[in-house]
Amino acid sequence: MIDKQGNVPLLLSTIPPNRSQRRLAGWVLAILVIALVVTAPFSRIRLAETAPLLLAYAAAVLFVEVLTAALLLSLFAIQKSRAVLVLSAGYLFSGLLVIPWALTFPGIFTAFGLDAGLQSTAAIAAVRRLSFPVFVLAYAALKDQEDLALWPRASIRTVIAAQVLLIAGLAAGLTWTIIQADQLPTFMVDARDVAPLWRYVPAAAIGLYLVGLVVLWLRRQSTLDLWLMIVLCTLVIEIALLSYLGGGARLSVGWWAGRLYGLASASMVLLVLLSETATLQARLARSIHSERLARESRLTAMEALSASIAHEISQPLASMVTNANAGLRWLDKEIPRIVEAQAALERVVRDGHRARDVVDGIRQLFRKGTQDRTSVDMNSLIKDVLRRSADEARFGRVSVESDLDPNLPLATGSPLQLQQVISNLVANAVDATSAVTGRPRIVRIITRLRASREILVSVEDSGPGIADTLKDRIFEPFFSTKPDGMGMGLMFSRSVVESHGGKLWVEDTVTSGAIFRFTLPCSDWTGASDTELRQ
Ligand code: ADP
Repeated sequence: MIDKQGNVPLLLSTIPPNRSQRRLAGWVLAILVIALVVTAPFSRIRLAETAPLLLAYAAAVLFVEVLTAALLLSLFAIQKSRAVLVLSAGYLFSGLLVIPWALTFPGIFTAFGLDAGLQSTAAIAAVRRLSFPVFVLAYAALKDQEDLALWPRASIRTVIAAQVLLIAGLAAGLTWTIIQADQLPTFMVDARDVAPLWRYVPAAAIGLYLVGLVVLWLRRQSTLDLWLMIVLCTLVIEIALLSYLGGGARLSVGWWAGRLYGLASASMVLLVLLSETATLQARLARSIHSERLARESRLTAMEALSASIAHEISQPLASMVTNANAGLRWLDKEIPRIVEAQAALERVVRDGHRARDVVDGIRQLFRKGTQDRTSVDMNSLIKDVLRRSADEARFGRVSVESDLDPNLPLATGSPLQLQQVISNLVANAVDATSAVTGRPRIVRIITRLRASREILVSVEDSGPGIADTLKDRIFEPFFSTKPDGMGMGLMFSRSVVESHGGKLWVEDTVTSGAIFRFTLPCSDWTGASDTELRQ
């Protein structure tokens, strides 16, 4: 039942029934019991010969049961479950046996000389009655021990064809044997009334149905199991009407009512199975569609990223080639121009570093950070970053302040990656603030616990802020307004935060400057904090 990736396929025979399915099944059962009670008083009334009705009934049963078998075979083709295969054999066998049952029914085709003898119809009915619950029991016994290896992909069609042929052959062979037999058990005293021996058949059938019900109840898991239980309940009701309440006489009201309730319920089960299959198919189609969309958008993102990477790397490479050629030319002169050649080589080195930085940035972006996830104290991570960037801040005459929530819970994540995120945001804030004149240069980093169990980190600066038109672009790869900027920092930071289950976004400050905020789910949240976000 489980595929190679460990997924259970979404099939009727694998998914458990939901509440509305259980409710519907309950209603079907209740309606059947009510119908039984209503019909019971009239069930001994005998009706006239109704040959066309009997044939129509037989045709309907054949149609419903063969269709159910086909539906189960298609389930088998996907799920490769032996249990479902056996169940479909049960339906097919029962459906096919209706043909000889109707054809041998006394009075139906007698006019055509097709009189098979008094006992044949009852013998076929007995085999049909008793075999179906045996197939259901085999289904129930097999259903938890699937062996996928038994059904190699190529042989599915063969298995289905072989089963259909086998069951058809069995039904035909059995019919022939019954019709040819000289001595059959005496089930009928005349064309309409049953003999005492017959009473063992419904009793045995009810016994088998009840055993089937108990086994299915104990091993119930799937929607299919639920509806099979309803089928068995219906069969119990049907046989009660046919054999007991109707006095065992053929073509009485009870006899007909039992047959018709059985048929109605079997068709209902078939309809439910069909509609469930259609629903599952629609769900599958939707999920394939959304998966395709996600793949396409992933591909677009990858294409955009690789185009930017190609662009970013080809630029320094082209510049390196130009400068290296220039260097060669300076050295090729009659009197080599060492100073110029040196300058050209320095540019080569600079561009080489730039290309390496691009590659490093990409490697950092795709480095797997999930394996080394531990509990992270964001406050101490921030203090660490601030300690390291102190020189830079001092150099830009930027004052870096922190307001860290002392009761901040731990986060779960990669300390290295989260440190890089903070360091990117602080470096950007310091860069932006260093250019400010005429107002204090301040970078403030704040941590808070939000009511929504998230840690919020804000990096606020008094820099020039970010124009509305750039607010989305700054997160694109290689977008930078700095002469030596790589434009990878924010993209990397956002992807790290998102991979940790958080969000990163930018806001304007009330006065001037930008606030970058990101959230992270906390690992040991136990309740609301009294240090909710004050802003
Ligand atoms: P880089 O820092 O290499 O340019 P980033 O992805 O970190 O790459 O940033 C992209 C761009 O976003 C920067 O070039 C800058 O224009 C803008 N930016 C980032 N942080 C700030 C900030 N705090 N204030 C103003 N602009 C910012």
